[in-house]
Amino acid sequence: MSVFISGATGFIAQHIVGQLLEQNYKVIGTARSQAKIDRLQEQFGNNPNFTMEIVEDIAKLDAFDAVIKKHAKDIKFVLHTASPFHFETTDFEKDLLIPAVNGTKGILESIKKYAADSVERVVITSSYAAIIDFKIEDDTNTVMTEANWNPDTWESCQANAVTAYCGSKKFAEQAAWEFLEANKDQVKFKLATVNPVYVFGPQNFDEDVTSKLNTSCEFVNQLVHAKADDPIPALCGGYIDVRDVAKAHILAMQKDELIGQRLLMTNGKFNFQDIADILNEDFPVLKGNIPVGAPHTGAQHKQIGANVDNSKTKSLLGFKFRTLKETIADTAAQILKHEGKL
Ligand code: NDP
Repeated sequence: MSVFISGATGFIAQHIVGQLLEQNYKVIGTARSQAKIDRLQEQFGNNPNFTMEIVEDIAKLDAFDAVIKKHAKDIKFVLHTASPFHFETTDFEKDLLIPAVNGTKGILESIKKYAADSVERVVITSSYAAIIDFKIEDDTNTVMTEANWNPDTWESCQANAVTAYCGSKKFAEQAAWEFLEANKDQVKFKLATVNPVYVFGPQNFDEDVTSKLNTSCEFVNQLVHAKADDPIPALCGGYIDVRDVAKAHILAMQKDELIGQRLLMTNGKFNFQDIADILNEDFPVLKGNIPVGAPHTGAQHKQIGANVDNSKTKSLLGFKFRTLKETIADTAAQILKHEGKL
């Protein structure tokens, strides 16, 4: 029996594939082109347990039909990670909302059509973006938990690319829970979602370090390459390490206690000042070259914005998450080694 994972080329998905192969699962991954398949299979040493299929564009509702049909009897677990995560568009419906929502609806419909009896568990990579409420995100008296939902509508989320991305994750996750409710007598699978905040950590393969990284790691990349007199960006959010997010996906498909749960993956808040502190303290090669700001005044040292309480998720998962220092230092070290500076 195999694990089917959409968007296997992604930053998070590559770590999931790696951990699945370490646990001796057979994995069927999807990518948008044969060239991407060839590269990833080679990176995984052409492991015979890792096969791949092309799914060109998840915005098409029938995108998964052919591959789910082909492997129907063999798929026990489905991990749906593919979804656009970037802010580089002004056509929010076409580039963010529709692929996110149709990708989720489409893969679940394909399971219903072709693999209703074989797929037992589905895990959707959702996001804190499906939970966030921008109106109270700065309110230090607020506590956000696994029970909260982003209140934006299809229209209101299209204010800018960030809110549109958040809307795309909300509407996609909502579509999954609604699909299961409407089809619970026709499919066998149980559902869980993984809802991470900003995900940092090394690329699964060192050679995938490029001048521009995936959206979340790019924040670290930008600060590694900032100039000493550049201002420190104001962004503040939650952080979690990619290896912990990957582990949570696998536990979500393995553990019965996680059925029906939204796993809010965060290990606390950070802002760019905290990242600058770690880079300045841990990497002498960066000292004097990147901004210093006001050390030890970041979100690791004082409360900024809404509280997030994910004690339920932490106790369900039962493992310790990596610290900000570890995830940022590992991200930066991989970049600096790639550039021959470490
Ligand atoms: P990546 O951009 O690295 O991965 C996204 C994956 O989705 C890639 O495999 C990409 O393919 C695929 N994809 C995107 N659009 C399409 C499309 N239209 N058709 C087919 N495939 C598509 O991002 P991450 O690994 O960071 O994100 C993975 C998941 O995690 C997403 O669902 C994202 O929303 C979620 N997430 C990420 C967080 C983070 O901080 N990184 C935080 C919270 C949630 P290709 O490689 O060809 O572009």
